[in-house]
Amino acid sequence: MSVTKKMLIGGHISTAGGIYLSAERAHNFSFRTFQIFSKNQMQWKAKPLAPDDVEKFRNEVKARNMKGIMVHASYLLNMGTPDQELRAKVIEAFGEEIRRADMLGIDYLTFHPGSSTGTTEKVALRNIADNLNHVITGDQKCTILLETSAGQGKTVGHTFEQLAEIIDQVQIKDKVGICFDTCHVFAAGYDIKSKSGYGETMDQFNSILGLDRLKGFHLNDTKKGLNSRVDRHEQIGDGILGIDGISNFIKDPRLTERPMNLETPLGEGGYEKDLSILNAALNEE
Ligand SMILES: [Zn+2]
Ligand SMILES: [Zn+2]
Repeated sequence: MSVTKKMLIGGHISTAGGIYLSAERAHNFSFRTFQIFSKNQMQWKAKPLAPDDVEKFRNEVKARNMKGIMVHASYLLNMGTPDQELRAKVIEAFGEEIRRADMLGIDYLTFHPGSSTGTTEKVALRNIADNLNHVITGDQKCTILLETSAGQGKTVGHTFEQLAEIIDQVQIKDKVGICFDTCHVFAAGYDIKSKSGYGETMDQFNSILGLDRLKGFHLNDTKKGLNSRVDRHEQIGDGILGIDGISNFIKDPRLTERPMNLETPLGEGGYEKDLSILNAALNEE
């Protein structure tokens, strides 16, 4: 059986030429889900979405029966910042990300929790929760996913406990979940490469955060080792996590309905090969 049939596999897809073109690009890889940026990820300002493009996007997604689509939020948003001026900008831009995801009918908005630059870890975690409480509304449709971080530099969200500390302080909890990045979690020190390490990590996740919070994945191999705290993605099977580590995820029957997006360095140029390696792994005994 092909991995795209068994699991909800997708990848990060370009929106070049029009946001609605992303669904067809994803479909051409046999993906049943995908991830996009809804705006330039390196800029604060976003051009408003044209109603025509929004309608075409929704139609394309529906026609292809795709689900669990993710928007990845801008890299500029540090929700942990202690700087009040920056904070106002971050809140405004984050609110805009939510509105755009909702307009497009997208289920998940994934973001990097932030960093403790200029403050302590404890305060950064509290700031992230405070800011989420500012932007989450009861009537929004999309669920906001905190992405597990590699713990590079002063980034927070690299332990399940830190992520739980944020969610504990969020008021509308049914609008938050976790996006589990396999490269980041391994770099952060969780041994998901071995079968027993994988089992223990998932048990820990379940007892600290709850498996029902685990809404999706970034499926990446890593150039750096266990506990390296360095975020460097690698093509599937070419990295230190290797096909053994990745197999733990694509063979876990609990995860069949959770979107898993490739974010490997070659992007769309490498997905065919990534998929062939995933297929070989899935079908070997
Ligand atoms: Zn990310
Ligand atoms: Zn990464």
